Amino acid sequence: MEDKNLRNALQANFLRAHALGKYRAEISHYIKGYDSLKIQIKAYDMWEYAIAKKYGIKEYSCHFERGLIAGIIESYLGKRIKIKEERCIATGDSYCLLVTSIFFNR
Ligand SMILES: [Zn+2]
Repeated sequence: MEDKNLRNALQANFLRAHALGKYRAEISHYIKGYDSLKIQIKAYDMWEYAIAKKYGIKEYSCHFERGLIAGIIESYLGKRIKIKEERCIATGDSYCLLVTSIFFNR
């Protein structure tokens, strides 16, 4: 696995999202263990939160971008992963937090 390429691909996606005015994001944790990889992403001004707010939805709302980021990671790792949104601006947090823990050889 090419760690640097995965990180670069995520950063490129965040630049794209920012350039398009969709959201700003950063990799807040990227911890590679012997057989695991944990990634946390903080996202601000997420467009999906803005739509949720418009319709009075106060639930974790950033499903499209969560899926898009999962797709990027999956394409680099060659395996299915799950990303959980642990914080969302729509529920009153100051940012959205997307978290994935990936285990290899299990
Ligand atoms: Zn969110």
